[in-house]
Amino acid sequence: MNGGRLRGRLAAAGLAGAAALGAALGVTPAVAQPFDGCPSDAILERFESFGRSGRMPMELGRWLSDPKAQYVEPFKAFDEVHFVGVCWVSAWVVRTSAGPVLIDTLHAPHVDQLLQNLARVGIDPASIRYVLMTHGHFDHVGGAAKLKTVAPGARFVMTRRGWDEAIASARQSSGTPRAWTMVDVDVVVADGDVVTVGDTSFKVYETPGHTFGTASYEFPVRDGSERHVAFTVGGLGLNAIENSQQVEAFIASVRRIEGLVARRPDPVTVHLTTHPFSNRLIEAAAALKTRGPSAPHPLVDPEGFARQLRSLRDGAEERLAVERKAGR
Ligand SMILES: [Zn+2]
Repeated sequence: MNGGRLRGRLAAAGLAGAAALGAALGVTPAVAQPFDGCPSDAILERFESFGRSGRMPMELGRWLSDPKAQYVEPFKAFDEVHFVGVCWVSAWVVRTSAGPVLIDTLHAPHVDQLLQNLARVGIDPASIRYVLMTHGHFDHVGGAAKLKTVAPGARFVMTRRGWDEAIASARQSSGTPRAWTMVDVDVVVADGDVVTVGDTSFKVYETPGHTFGTASYEFPVRDGSERHVAFTVGGLGLNAIENSQQVEAFIASVRRIEGLVARRPDPVTVHLTTHPFSNRLIEAAAALKTRGPSAPHPLVDPEGFARQLRSLRDGAEERLAVERKAGR
């Protein structure tokens, strides 16, 4: 809830203010949300400062799991691709001639929203053929167990190490406020594998770095008569780094993806991100809504993707120096 809406509600109830209401009821007043809406730059800044300090501010932690604060309208990104995620983490659904493919599951508090978003774009979860998962952190795969109950025909896909990381991470969460469970190992993919569903092929890249088991996916998208190559980078942050080898792997993975953006012919030109704030996705969605008939597609942005990769690599180079200095 944002400040304006809170004030609006209190005014509607004929009350003077949150503090007075709290005092009268003997409860803590509602805590203001850290963001008004889903502003990418402000969110990115908060995550960067969290990355530097290593400590997640309490209100940020609460915000991540608050379905109301996390709501963003689902939108059509390309002819066959819809964003069905929430403010801080993405889920993408891709229609193929043989049924839909979902990329990432969000985490459990947001699965109801994911299902509503799918319904809104006309997709029955029972028709989902594959769920391609990027890596084993709760925000990307924590919703898999709940999703599986309504998508019994879906096959869940991840790398060998990704599955191990997800299962270990879920086990470690047991007994914590954000406890989650992982589905059993289903499809295991490796670098270079292609998951073909009807007319659409998803190429698997093992891109270790964010976690060692992180996978990225490349697939074609259409915008009317134009065809583009889209890519989902499986893990963007350096928030789960354990040692310098992991940072070296991250840098090598980013270089490899930079090579795909520079590839000719058939360069990757679209980044369908796992975290909207990473490349101002929500702002691009707004631009998409008001796009004129001959205007360029705001998500076809190879220069922007190249800049983002460059900045990820620069950040990782800095982090590598820190890890080496610490002897890790
Ligand atoms: Zn992660």
